[in-house]
Amino acid sequence: MITGTMQRAMGVVPSSRLAEIIRNELTQKKLCSSFTQVARDRSASFLLSWYKDKCKVGNIAPRFVYFRSRSCCDLSFLDSVDHYFNKAAEISSVDKGLLAFIKACNSIIKFHVPLKRACGKLELIEGYRAQHSHHRLPVKGGIRLGPNVDANETMALAALMTYKCAVVNVPFGGAKGSVRIDPSKYTSTEKEAILRRYTVELVRRNYMGPAIDVPAPDYGTGSLEMAWIKDTYSFLRHTDINASGCVTGKPISEGGIQGRQEATGLGAFFVLREFFNDEDLVRKVGLTRGVKDKTFIVQGLGNVGLHASEFIHKAGGRIIAIAERHGGLVDETGKGLDIEVVKSYHKKNGTLNGLPNVKNITDTEKILELPCDVLIPAALESQIHSGNADRIKAKVIAEAANGPLTPAADKILEGKGVVILPDLLVNAGGVTVSYFEWLKNLNHIEFGRMTRRMEEHGKRVLLSALENQYGNGHKIPTSLRDELSRGNTEVDFVHSGLEETMVTGWENVKKTAQEKGCSFRKAAYLVAIERIAKSIGDQGIFP
Ligand code: NAD
Repeated sequence: MITGTMQRAMGVVPSSRLAEIIRNELTQKKLCSSFTQVARDRSASFLLSWYKDKCKVGNIAPRFVYFRSRSCCDLSFLDSVDHYFNKAAEISSVDKGLLAFIKACNSIIKFHVPLKRACGKLELIEGYRAQHSHHRLPVKGGIRLGPNVDANETMALAALMTYKCAVVNVPFGGAKGSVRIDPSKYTSTEKEAILRRYTVELVRRNYMGPAIDVPAPDYGTGSLEMAWIKDTYSFLRHTDINASGCVTGKPISEGGIQGRQEATGLGAFFVLREFFNDEDLVRKVGLTRGVKDKTFIVQGLGNVGLHASEFIHKAGGRIIAIAERHGGLVDETGKGLDIEVVKSYHKKNGTLNGLPNVKNITDTEKILELPCDVLIPAALESQIHSGNADRIKAKVIAEAANGPLTPAADKILEGKGVVILPDLLVNAGGVTVSYFEWLKNLNHIEFGRMTRRMEEHGKRVLLSALENQYGNGHKIPTSLRDELSRGNTEVDFVHSGLEETMVTGWENVKKTAQEKGCSFRKAAYLVAIERIAKSIGDQGIFP
């Protein structure tokens, strides 16, 4: 039997590490091929019970028992976030009671979504929504679809949202939602039914709305899913004039904003660009200034990983390998992968396997261990853990995913002198542009609509005046005149606001790290804690 103690212990085992051990075990028993299929995206407890069932063992094999000791294993995702918080709290001047108040998850709901499947079977699906902090309203955070999501993971992600918003000064509290399904096993119609019912469950509990809680895309969801959510909310709250602000990451036609799709990847790029512009910092890891010609490995070619890769590629960085769920690629030309080619192949085939003129690798975890300047984990949490951290050869890690490093891995890598750019800052571009989208929805007008022509007119008048005064009869060529007099569109405002936010966020984190002599992660948590404490302190505690 798997005992309660064992089950609790499993919560602290990263499933990828356990999968590695079980895979080795099963190779000896010649059961490995079926396990590889099972291991993807499964929780530690699922893997252990699968192992027990397959190998007909009554008790857990003794070699797994050492995972029961926390000292030799990785913390769960929620414990990791709390651990990082506690480490930063130790060097803050915030009162202990207030620290406990900031850290605690304010509320979480769990409910069941009934789904009548195409085959006629009725299925009950678990849904969660955690609202971590109400110190600012609305609260904000994505909705994730995954076979292993649970209350703890949702609370960890909600807490990260609170801290992230504080680091980049976005005036929201943190939240997160999740639906426990493997999206690849459901049709689009079924997913639509699940998400519409999920929305109804939130609305009827007063857990959603432009002034209450505003979801967004996350792992497994995108603009289409946000459109379903917005449509359902608007149907239920048809008298709410601000209904389109109930969710962000929507298609443009549904009140979305230009620039949201690439926002997280572009934000990550801005942080990397700023890091590489700091000569002292890059010299410490044996690198030179500038993104150009640096080598990058990206894990996860979804929304975040793809756009980050595109901006790096445009800036002259070389993406030398990409790890995807079902296989990855390694460049053999020395010039770096052609991201446009990789992107269209992935879009067309749903996999990277089989792309010609590159080295295809099935054991994608090994890709993370290849030598490179920068590793960008952009898939899921706990991907780098006590089991593989020692083999990571990157000089810099930019956490584009939420929580991709366990604290044990963080410690090992810091000990090796690796610079870690933390998730709280690196992937904050998504929520930043979500904030702009929400503002657009409340204003009922797109950015630039009232100013673009006026700006163009002003610039043309100025150019004509310069031409007349100093042109000596020469005319400014039409194409240059058009270029110089172009007024700002919505995407110009969004990219400019995002750049300002990310660069200021980076400067604050860097300055704090230098003043306190600590890591960028600890500095980011410290900035967040002190800002939230100030906000709560200024408001006072009701009653
Ligand atoms: P996504 O669903 O668009 O893409 C994730 C990609 O990772 C998929 O292509 C998937 O196949 C791949 N993947 C899954 N497991 C993998 C594995 N073990 N190895 C390699 N690849 C694997 O999700 P996303 O929106 O890009 O989110 C990725 C991460 O970034 C998540 O941690 C999410 O919470 C975080 N994040 C996303 C946003 C956003 O705006 N989308 C904002 C902030 C943070």
